[in-house]
Amino acid sequence: MAKARSTRRTDFDEDDVRVRPSRRGSRPRTRTRPKHEDAETGRVLTIDRGRYTCLVDEGTRREHEITAMKARELGRKGVVVGDRVAIVGDLSGDKGALARIVRVEDRDSVLRRTADDDDPYERIIVANADQLAIVTALADPEPRPRLIDRCLVAAYDAGLEPLLVLTKADLAPPESLLELYGPLGVPYVVTRGGDAYDDWDLDAMRAYLDDRTTVFVGHSGVGKTTLVNALVPDRKRAVGHVNVVTGRGRHTTTSALTLRLPPHGEDGVSGWVVDTPGVRSFGLNHIDLGRIIHAFPDLEPGTEGCPRACSHDEPDCALDAWVEEGHADPARLYSLRRLLATREQAEGD
Ligand code: ZN
Repeated sequence: MAKARSTRRTDFDEDDVRVRPSRRGSRPRTRTRPKHEDAETGRVLTIDRGRYTCLVDEGTRREHEITAMKARELGRKGVVVGDRVAIVGDLSGDKGALARIVRVEDRDSVLRRTADDDDPYERIIVANADQLAIVTALADPEPRPRLIDRCLVAAYDAGLEPLLVLTKADLAPPESLLELYGPLGVPYVVTRGGDAYDDWDLDAMRAYLDDRTTVFVGHSGVGKTTLVNALVPDRKRAVGHVNVVTGRGRHTTTSALTLRLPPHGEDGVSGWVVDTPGVRSFGLNHIDLGRIIHAFPDLEPGTEGCPRACSHDEPDCALDAWVEEGHADPARLYSLRRLLATREQAEGD
């Protein structure tokens, strides 16, 4: 069974339903047929008190949202926003209709948040994302590089590509902050907005968002919500749980929310934006620092001479010699070590 990262074509035959192979390669069909082979594939858009809003018939004229619950047979297995799931039952999407999620497909990526003051458990925030957009204001509030570094570590650990989104460039120039991230090669967008974004800003953003799933994180006051609203003007209609979205309802939730970017351009290209209310940074306790080095392919070969379980920030680390021999830029090693150190530091500034 191929991964169900699939979109049905609009013109399929009922008996010729094929699953399009995943972008990242399909798996050999060795497994036995799963139960519920008649299940529909859905994308989990958001979660609210045990109810999962899922998109079914994605990419077809019949595309619609449904509400589902976890089937008992899933047991304690978690279902998270961004999951590809198999769904059975009432898929009409009618008021009061409740379908059942019977299977969670393999995840391509997993973005985690660890314990913080409000929540003692490590949780998956989003599955199957491609990119992490770290929204930071250049002023009001002041940028906090340590927070950005923590987000970068979380992105590298999860296998997501980071994107730095700098807002309020009308209040302060971006150069000194960008200097910190130049050696890391982190792509960035500088926007003038914060309270409002003009077309120029939005076009600059869309170039990075097309054809992928981007998770947005950022502290309050940096303009993240305004930016997401500007990118997805009909977000309030996109998902029924408006209270959840705004946090002004009778309850608030920290569930992420997946929104589709309006198609644009001649090809009608689109992408997915995942907003993360209440997620401002990442605990890094769960992170295996050994994985971070994979994001530094120029430095990784230099670790062959390292002592076992080298932290890459100790006297015997072979990376110093590797850089001295001219194999890599010293600024890259400095940046790697700065990121590796973030786990030991408080979030503060
Ligand atoms: Zn080392």
